[in-house]
Amino acid sequence: MTVAEKVTLVEVGPRDGLQYEQGFFPTPRKIELVDLLSQSGLKRIEVTSFVHPKAVPQLADAGEVLRGISKKPGVTYSALVPNLAGCRAALETPVDELALFVSASETHNRKNVNRSVAESLAGLAQVARQAKAAGRRLRGYIITAFGCPYEGRIAKDKLRAILEAYAAMGVDEAALGDTTGMANPRQAAQLAAWLSQGGWPLDLAFHFHDSRGLGLANVLASYEAGIRIFDCSVGGVGGCPTAIGASGNVDTLDMVNLFEEMGVSTGLEFEILRRAAALVAEVLQTRLPSRTFGQGRPRW
Ligand code: ZN
Repeated sequence: MTVAEKVTLVEVGPRDGLQYEQGFFPTPRKIELVDLLSQSGLKRIEVTSFVHPKAVPQLADAGEVLRGISKKPGVTYSALVPNLAGCRAALETPVDELALFVSASETHNRKNVNRSVAESLAGLAQVARQAKAAGRRLRGYIITAFGCPYEGRIAKDKLRAILEAYAAMGVDEAALGDTTGMANPRQAAQLAAWLSQGGWPLDLAFHFHDSRGLGLANVLASYEAGIRIFDCSVGGVGGCPTAIGASGNVDTLDMVNLFEEMGVSTGLEFEILRRAAALVAEVLQTRLPSRTFGQGRPRW
């Protein structure tokens, strides 16, 4: 008897996608989007971010969105928090999970949050204590984990140090991010294999951006090497033309098509996801990067 293969997709479009889009996505439409996504069978949705509204004005309505959605039982709703102030604001909402972040690259971390990696981790430990005391789940991003536009390849020692720090603060899941789309499939598979030998006491997710068209190839190579949790963004939105290398996450529909066609269950309803993608396209008045959105799934 063979065990059915499964994969968990984490929808990050409402946060990672919309934060890079030009203009403001109206709050009621964000709520509608998150509610539609939760109807698709997704168990994990990153809804928004508590980064300062000056830095990310697109998500200045974080609290309103989290209070406005109809929470579906069994779905974990998440929000990105950069620091204690963001954490406190998030904890006033019904959010289930807080997502922390630090860069694997010193230079990128300094440019992003004006702190060293060690300083960031010390601050995140305080955030983690508060979140855990409030009974929230914790996700920890390691951004630029696959490569940094300033420093190039990231040594595994740096990843190990951050994973150890996250594990020590009780982070439930680490998400390794290919923030600027520098990963390639062999590298991704090697990293997946290295991680699976580590015996890490936290779940491991991979988060790819499709900047150079290698997103799905990286997902497939990582899956074959043992990773079972992947981030995706409905329609493939995100990607600011003014930020170097920033481009949307791998599209949720493309990922569902990839896995389901290979016989790996995602547990997701394609047509509902397609409606969610259509909503995004309508509000942003944009053509989506998604391939499967226009084509639909193959008919056999
Ligand atoms: Zn990202």
